[in-house]
Amino acid sequence: MIPKGHLLRRINVFVTSVLGDLHEQLGPFYSDIGRPSIDPELLIRMLIIGYCFGIRSERRLCEEVRLHLAYRWFCRLDLNDAVPYHSTFSENRLNRFRESDILRHIFERVVIAAMEMGLVKGEGFAVDATSWRRTQAVITARRPMNSIGPRSSSESVRWLSILRHSKPKRRLMAMPRMTTRVVDPRANDSAVMSAATQGDLAVGSQSAWTAKANKRVQFGYGLNYLIDIENAVIVDVEATPARTYDEVAATQTMLDRAEERFDLKPRRLAADTAYGTGKFLGWLVKRKKIIPHIPVWEMSDRQDGIFSRSDLHWDRKRGAYICPNGKLLKTSGTVHDGRTLLYRASKRDCDVCAIRAKCCTTADARKIPRDIHEDARDIARRKMKTKAFAKSRDERKRVEMRFAHLKTHHGFERLRLRGLSGARDEFHLAAIVQNLKTLALRTLGPPTRRRASYA
Ligand code: SF4
Repeated sequence: MIPKGHLLRRINVFVTSVLGDLHEQLGPFYSDIGRPSIDPELLIRMLIIGYCFGIRSERRLCEEVRLHLAYRWFCRLDLNDAVPYHSTFSENRLNRFRESDILRHIFERVVIAAMEMGLVKGEGFAVDATSWRRTQAVITARRPMNSIGPRSSSESVRWLSILRHSKPKRRLMAMPRMTTRVVDPRANDSAVMSAATQGDLAVGSQSAWTAKANKRVQFGYGLNYLIDIENAVIVDVEATPARTYDEVAATQTMLDRAEERFDLKPRRLAADTAYGTGKFLGWLVKRKKIIPHIPVWEMSDRQDGIFSRSDLHWDRKRGAYICPNGKLLKTSGTVHDGRTLLYRASKRDCDVCAIRAKCCTTADARKIPRDIHEDARDIARRKMKTKAFAKSRDERKRVEMRFAHLKTHHGFERLRLRGLSGARDEFHLAAIVQNLKTLALRTLGPPTRRRASYA
């Protein structure tokens, strides 16, 4: 009764293979006595159905599996077999699944299956992140935030550490005056005030304020994908607060883990400007020996007609800048803010300089900050002019397509589970399903568009 080209028929063989050792992995987390437990393979298969077809509610998932023939077949349920009660999922998720980290294990088994089928080349990776907002932990204030508390956008904001509370929502609602602005110190003040006037308060500090892509500012989690460019197989996935700083740090974790778990070390990494910081490029080039196909995050270019840093020549041999007037700018070697060296011109040179008005308008002598990882940034800048970089920039879109498909094909618009661990579970299941679909597509070909075959 189930068409040959049905998605569940196409992925079933791979699912059977990757779940082969599921009972062995989860064995220590089940008791030898008591009532028989619900087969974890059934639960995982049901979750895979849910993420394949965008069935976001577990209550609805149980109902769909009860009624849908293909879903029953995929779950190996006979027509008379009972479907688990929906709360079984949360019970298992909060206990066995998280303790055993089984979703991570299944994800890695899927990646290994893709590698065995030659779908992972390992030459070039791409990384990107997107944010998803939470649902359950964002609550609406009882009265508009703009009617109470401070109104100035420049007013200092302080972080409310609600994680300490066991019942954060109840505790927050019990507050007589909700005057505290809950905000990540790195968030933009005006964006935060705009959110506050819309009446949202958020609890918990595992997520982060985000106003990416000009969406409404919100608390959210970042989904980080590291993909192999060849077939867009997701080789690692990580959940973070929706904050660029954490997303870049997660990339380091993912690259290290891909090397450790799968012995995969790419020759090049493609990413967008958010990853073009000196610190990350330095780590990538010096520690990992990976060529960055990443646009450099330029903060030094000036638009007011004054010489920018790029107008000065870096003399590598002498370790100094040469200004347009041919004078040297040297450093004392002191590292400022843990990452910057200051190169200074001589006051005597600048005082008599004919082009001083275009270079040094306020200070006694021109100063140029240089990132301690500027060498790595220079390597990335040189790469930006190559054809290989242009190719990587196009290929990088494959990771963005992964996010787009999640939203359009899998109904993945808001997070359903609470906390970073909930986001992690959801992102792993999403990555498992997307990789399973890639496995089916690359090995079986596209599903036939002709009338379904039931053979
Ligand atoms: S002002 Fe100083 S640093 Fe600038 S061009 Fe003149 S000599 Fe060089």
